[in-house]
Amino acid sequence: MSKLRYERPIIRMLNSTITQKFGSSPGFKPFTHIDGMSVKELIADYGSPLFVVSERTLRQTYKAAYRAFSTRYPKVQFAWSYKTNYLGAVCQIFHQEGSWAEVVSRFEFEKALRNGVAGNKIIFNGPEKTEDDLRTAVQYGALIHIDHFDELNMLSMVAVELGVKPKVAIRVNMDTGVYPIWDRFGFNYESGQAMEAIQKIMTDGFLELVGLHCHIGTFMLSADAYRIATEKLSKLALHIAEHFGHSLSYLDLGGGFATKNTLRGAYLNGADAAPSFHDYAEAITDVLLNAGFQAGQLPTLILETGRALVDDAGYLLGSVIANKRLSDGRRATILDFGVNILFTAFWYEHTISTAQACGQYGEDAVLYGPLCMNIDVIREHIKLPPLNRGDQVVVHRVGAYNMTQWMQFITLRPNVVLLDMDGKPHLMRAAETLDDLVLNESIPEHLMELVH
Ligand SMILES: *Cc1c(COP(=O)(O)O)cnc(C)c1O
Repeated sequence: MSKLRYERPIIRMLNSTITQKFGSSPGFKPFTHIDGMSVKELIADYGSPLFVVSERTLRQTYKAAYRAFSTRYPKVQFAWSYKTNYLGAVCQIFHQEGSWAEVVSRFEFEKALRNGVAGNKIIFNGPEKTEDDLRTAVQYGALIHIDHFDELNMLSMVAVELGVKPKVAIRVNMDTGVYPIWDRFGFNYESGQAMEAIQKIMTDGFLELVGLHCHIGTFMLSADAYRIATEKLSKLALHIAEHFGHSLSYLDLGGGFATKNTLRGAYLNGADAAPSFHDYAEAITDVLLNAGFQAGQLPTLILETGRALVDDAGYLLGSVIANKRLSDGRRATILDFGVNILFTAFWYEHTISTAQACGQYGEDAVLYGPLCMNIDVIREHIKLPPLNRGDQVVVHRVGAYNMTQWMQFITLRPNVVLLDMDGKPHLMRAAETLDDLVLNESIPEHLMELVH
């Protein structure tokens, strides 16, 4: 018997499997259906790439989130964060479930009105509100959340001019133990600036202070940060009750709850790292219930959760354009969707499944988009079974911020389909065409020679 040939051990850097103590699941289970509807059929009917949103998941997620808060606290109101996903059909689903609208610009405000939301159920946030925006918001009776002293002064002037007392809140920023602090928005708590703004509103008498607002960050992995935020807002509200005999009707804790997406470079998988709705709800309501509000004067708790309500409901379907070897031997797969429509690829290591049965053994690969730009990387490292040209993939949890932050760049935006409660597809935004792109362009007459 001859001796086995010696092979020297090698140490290889692990790039694409999960490098943490929970290990990874090696199975490559194809993801062939969304709510009972075939992925292949959707692509055949609506093209590739294609965004798909599940109405069933949207409603289930909303109900789970609302239940987590309303079973712990008697007065809860959600306001849908338009910038997270303002496709009309998505907004309508949240409004049907009972959400108000939370907007951060004039066009979002107008979109909420057009969606049929009453003015007094629109929360107008954000640092940029022109005098005309404020006048319009006041006329519709919107809840205006003031961001800075210049806005406070401008709104006071508008109120005097119109002879009304607008309902307002101030946005408060604070140290919640998560850094950096988002202190560019609103009035700072620790420095006394928030108190100064409150004092000014209460003594001027031009505005009716109905609430306090904060939005401490986004993708907050600490439920405890909300405990601290709630404590600080409650202290301000109790101070107002004590010193001005005025009780606020609401405290708005903003949004920022994390989803199960995995942040790029994170040690823990998103599913293991993200607090649940129950964790966030427990932190916030526990403080509110014990803060010392008089019986019957508990403020309504408003939440502007965006990401966590819509992320899971969104999918991006796409196809393989080509495979190639990079100079260092790595496999590269080029897909037909890029960072121009999947903006969150910059932040997340998105879970990506194949849409058809394929091999059991994976290989490290880089996933590129179709753009002729070096930044167009969908995943730096991923282990996937070899894919062939024409094979299809499904990107999971893309419902938040992609259908608003997408760019018209090199390629046009694709179709977006809603799967209703029965899994039946409805086109909710048609793919763009060249006509859409040039609609607002004009070419001066002296440059029209070739066009005529
Ligand atoms: C963006 C935003 C939200 C929603 O944040 P998510 O992180 O998506 O939950 C809520 N309130 C304000 C003021 C915002 O700017």
